[in-house]
Amino acid sequence: MKSATRYFLTMTLGAGLSASLLAQGIQYDKIEIKTEKVAPNLYMLSGSEGVDPGHPDGAGGRIGVLAGPDGIFMVDAQYLQIGEKVLAAIHRIDQGPIRFLVNTHVHGDHTAGNATFAKLGAVILAREELREAMTRTPGNPAANAPARDPARLPVLTYGMGDPLRLRMNGESVELIPVRAAHTGGDTMIRFVNADAIMIGDFYRNFGYPFIDVGNGGSLKGALEALELTMKIAGPNTKLIPGHGTFINRTDIIPYRDMIVAVREKVQQLIAQGKSEDEVVAAKVTAPYDAKVPGGLLPANTGGGTSADRFVRMVYSQLKAGGK
Ligand SMILES: [Zn+2]
Repeated sequence: MKSATRYFLTMTLGAGLSASLLAQGIQYDKIEIKTEKVAPNLYMLSGSEGVDPGHPDGAGGRIGVLAGPDGIFMVDAQYLQIGEKVLAAIHRIDQGPIRFLVNTHVHGDHTAGNATFAKLGAVILAREELREAMTRTPGNPAANAPARDPARLPVLTYGMGDPLRLRMNGESVELIPVRAAHTGGDTMIRFVNADAIMIGDFYRNFGYPFIDVGNGGSLKGALEALELTMKIAGPNTKLIPGHGTFINRTDIIPYRDMIVAVREKVQQLIAQGKSEDEVVAAKVTAPYDAKVPGGLLPANTGGGTSADRFVRMVYSQLKAGGK
């Protein structure tokens, strides 16, 4: 995102648009799908701005589409309610069959549309932990309650260990399992020839980090995932988060450093005997708030801002003995 656009979003959304957005919920009928070409046969689809209170910078999670004569390979499926629009956007790229769909993590803005594509013949792949989380009831608050259609469930699952590799359309696709980061069932998807990696949601550049501890995520795992990403990415590798703008590996450094610094401050306050609410009231993210677009907007789950939610998560992880 250009900084002017980001400034505009931060200002306008901060100035009250977010309140009306929150009141209206997700305006599915207003979501438009934008398509971005990343490589000759690799495309990214994202929802439009200002219609999804949890993601004011772009509705839902980003979708990846690898197209070509071998059929389509998809990453994530967005909201169920906009299946037709997503399908139309894919068909504008390629009319071929959708053969595979992999989920980066369980949240509904990435998986709720699974069933639509499964019914068109796509084989859904994901971590075993993701499938398990998806079958659990009741759904988590961040998941926008995926419909209980069994067709939404992954058919082919895998655990930690070596990446799963698919060769299609001249591309080598690696599904790289990530240990307990944004959730307990994260996968990064690397397109080797396109030199691009879809990294899911353990990194974000709108709002503070969101680690879904209730779904198996962890602060320690998120930091490890950031290190792993910097290790496997080359200097020109396009890193494509589930939301927000594309980055490269050097953009991860200040993000990682911010998490480590906030963790350090929270740890100090815990050592002084401060309660969770006292730690939140200390506003330890203040030095970063101006640099984190959306950081002081309401979080899409629970009360408080994205900064407060982040600090509460750090506090609870440290209290639980996780680093
Ligand atoms: Zn997401």
